Amino acid sequence: MASKVLDHFLQENLDDLKNRGLYNMIDPLESPNGPVIKIDGKELINLSSNNYLGLATDPRLIDAAVEATRKYGVGAGAVRTINGTLKLHEELERKLAEFKHTEAAIAYQSGFNCNMAAISAVMDKNDAILSDELNHASIIDGCRLSKAKIIRFNHSDMDDLRAKAKEAKESGQYKKIMVITDGVFSMDGDIAKLPEIVEIAEEFDLITYVDDAHGSGVLGNGAGTVKHFGLSDKIDFQIGTLSKAIGVVGGYVAGKKELIDWLKVRSRPFLFSTALPPGDVAACIKAIDILMNSTELQERLWNNGNYLKKGLKELGFDIGESETPITPCIIGEEKLTQTFSKRLYEEGVYAKAIVFPTVPRGTGRVRNMPTAAHTKEMLDRALAIYEKVGKEMGILK
Ligand SMILES: *Cc1c(COP(=O)(O)O)cnc(C)c1O
Repeated sequence: MASKVLDHFLQENLDDLKNRGLYNMIDPLESPNGPVIKIDGKELINLSSNNYLGLATDPRLIDAAVEATRKYGVGAGAVRTINGTLKLHEELERKLAEFKHTEAAIAYQSGFNCNMAAISAVMDKNDAILSDELNHASIIDGCRLSKAKIIRFNHSDMDDLRAKAKEAKESGQYKKIMVITDGVFSMDGDIAKLPEIVEIAEEFDLITYVDDAHGSGVLGNGAGTVKHFGLSDKIDFQIGTLSKAIGVVGGYVAGKKELIDWLKVRSRPFLFSTALPPGDVAACIKAIDILMNSTELQERLWNNGNYLKKGLKELGFDIGESETPITPCIIGEEKLTQTFSKRLYEEGVYAKAIVFPTVPRGTGRVRNMPTAAHTKEMLDRALAIYEKVGKEMGILK
C-alpha cells in the first residue's frame, strides 16, 4: 500500500513549488542538442546547452564512438577495479593528464560523481573545507559526504577566504584544510581568482581543489582556468567534466601521480560503479586530440560569446559580470523570469530560465550559452527576438 505520509509530503511540496513559479518543466528534444533544436515539432535557436564547442554532434567523435562500440561493445561490463578497465580508459587518462599538464589523471562516469569521489577520498571528519558560497551542487554534496567541517566563504571574496583560512589554521582543530572552488561559475560566467587563492593556500598550507567544468575547453587554449593563470603545478586537484565542452559524458581528476594512485584505491564511484562505456571513452579521446591540436573551436566560441554579449548589452539588458561566453540576462523576480523565457520560446529562442534555488532569490535569469556551432545569422535572429520580447514585457525601454 502506498504511504500516506509520502503522498502528503509530495502533494504539499509540489503544489507549493508550482504556486511559487519554482517548478521546472522538462522539454524533451526531438533532435540532437545542437545550435538549433526541435521541441514539439518546433525549431528553436538553442542557447541552453553546455555543448560549448559543438563536439556532441561532431562527426569525428561519432565515428570514433561507433568504431569503438563495434570493437568493444556498448558497455564496459564491470567496475574499473575488477575488469572494466580497457586499454582505452588508460589511453583517455594519459591524454587527460597531457591535456591538463599534470602527471596523471583518473576518469569517472560523470563530473557529479567525480566530486563525490574525490573530496571524500581525501577529506574526513578531522578536516575542514573552505568552500565558495556559489560552488556547484556536486561540490557541496561531495563536501557533505566527506564529513569534514564546511566553512563557506563569500563568493570570490579573498579577504573573507583569508580570514577564514587563518581562523581555521590557528584553531589547531583540523588535520587538513582544503580550499575548493569552481574555475568558472556557471550561473554568472565569472572566473575564480585563482592566483589569490593559491597565495592564500600557500600562506595557510591549504590543499587546493578547482572544479573546472565550465572552464575546460573554453579558457587557457582549451586546457582550462588553471592553465589560463599558469598555475598547473600549484593546484592539487583539477576536476573536469567530459560532458560539457568535450561533448560526451564523464568526469576526471588531474593531478600528481600519488593523488591519482590514491583515488584509484579509495574513491568509491571508481570502486563500486561500472566504468564509462567504450564508445564514450573513444569519443572523449578524439575530442581531446582535437582540442590539443587546434584552437579553432575555442576561437569560434569566444567570437560568438562576445557577439551575443555586445548585442544584448546594446539592447539594454543586464548581462551581469560574465568573463566567459556564458551570458546571463538577469530579469530578477522568478515568475517574470519564467514568463520571459516562455515568450522567447514562443518566438523561437530556447534560453532556459534559471531561478531560485539554483541562483539566489530575486536574481532569476535567462542564461545564454552560445557555442562554436552557432552562426551569426542564428545569433542575430536570437537578438531580434530578445528585443521584441524585452520591449513587449516592458523590460527594455
Ligand atoms: C556541470 C558541473 C558538474 C557536473 O558534471 P557532469 O559531468 O554533468 O556530471 C560538476 N561541477 C560543476 C562545476 C559543473 O558545472
